[in-house]
Amino acid sequence: MEQAIQQPTSVEALLKKRPLIISGPCSAETEEQVMQTALRLAATGKVDILRAGIWKPRTRPGSFEGIGTKGLPWLQQARKASGLPVAVEVATGKQVEDALHFDVDVLWIGARTTVNPFSVQDVADALRGVDVPVLIKNPINPDLELWIGAMERVAKAGIRNIGLIHRGFSSYGNTEYRNAPMWHLAIEMKRRYPELLMINDPSHICGRRDILMEVAQTAIDLDFDGLIIESHIDPDNAWSDAKQQVTPERLGEMISSIRWRSEDVASAEYHAALEKLRQQINNLDDELMQILSQRMKVAESIGNYKKENNITILQTNRWNAILERAFAKGEKLGLSKEFVTKYFDAVHMESINHQNKIMNS
Ligand code: PEP
Ligand code: MN
Repeated sequence: MEQAIQQPTSVEALLKKRPLIISGPCSAETEEQVMQTALRLAATGKVDILRAGIWKPRTRPGSFEGIGTKGLPWLQQARKASGLPVAVEVATGKQVEDALHFDVDVLWIGARTTVNPFSVQDVADALRGVDVPVLIKNPINPDLELWIGAMERVAKAGIRNIGLIHRGFSSYGNTEYRNAPMWHLAIEMKRRYPELLMINDPSHICGRRDILMEVAQTAIDLDFDGLIIESHIDPDNAWSDAKQQVTPERLGEMISSIRWRSEDVASAEYHAALEKLRQQINNLDDELMQILSQRMKVAESIGNYKKENNITILQTNRWNAILERAFAKGEKLGLSKEFVTKYFDAVHMESINHQNKIMNS
C-alpha cells in the first residue's frame, strides 16, 4: 500500500492540544492490524496519538500477554505511515529501553504497575536522562497516595512531561462498570495538581462499548484534558479487551458527537460552573446508590443467619451502637445530627424491610 510518509508532529506541542485524543488497540496483535488501525484512525482526523499494548499485564494467567518486543517495529512503521506519534505501556526498565529504541513517543505506566513502587522505581530509573512524556494511570485500588507516589518517582527521574490517566478503580461487587470511576478521586487529583494533563480512559472504566459515550461525556463535562479510548479493526475478535473496543470509524463518530465544552465561558461562566457541580453531584449520588445497594445485600446475608438461628431482626443494642458511631463520624465530617438521624433511620428501615423479606419468605 502506498502511503505518504509524514513526520510525526512534535509530541511536546501535541500534548498541549485540547482535547487530546489517544486511541488504538488494547494490544498490538499483528503487523497488519497495527497498520490498518493506525491508518483508519488517522483518516478520521480525530486522533492525536496511537496507543497499543505490547506487553500486557493480565490479571489472570492464560490470556494473551502481549506480542512483546517483536511488535515494536510494527508500531514504528505505523507511526511513519500514519503520522501519528505512538504510545506504549511500560512496566519494567527493560521495556522502557526497548520502547525508546523503537522511537515510541509517549510511555504510559499501567494501573497494575502504579500500585507497585518497586516496579515504578525500576521504570523511573530507566527514564533518567531521557526526555519522553510519561502518562501515569491511577492504581487499581482507590489510593491517591500511590498515584502521587508514582508521579513523584517519575518526576524525580527528571521527566518534565507527566500526565495522569484516570481509568477507574477495581471494586468488589461492582456491576455497572468494569472499574468504578470514583470521579471524586480524579477530581481531587486535578485539584491538587491543576497543572498536570488529566486524561480519562472510558474503555477500562466501562469494560463494554455501550456506555463509553456517557463516561467520555462526563469526563469532558468535568473538564478533563482528553480521552484515551481503545479501538480495533475487528473489535469482537480482539485478542484482549474485545468487549470494550470500537472500530476506528466508530471512534471518530464518538469524538464528533461529544459535546465539547468551550473553555472560554465569558457570560456563560456561571452556568458552566453549575453544570460541573451538578455532574459531580450526579456521580456521587450514583456511587452512593451503588454502595447502599451493596449495604442491603450485606443486611440480607445477616438476615439469613438470623433466620437460621431464629433470632429477632431488631437488636436495639446494635442499633444504638450504629447511631452513636454515626453521630461521632458525622460531626467530624460536618454532617448535622439531625441529618444523620434521618438518613440512618431510612437506611435502617430499608435494611429491616430487606431482612423481613428473607426471614418470612
Ligand atoms: C490498557 O490500557 O490496555 C491497560 C492494561 O489498562 P489498565 O492499566 O488501565 O488496566
Ligand atoms: Mn485494554
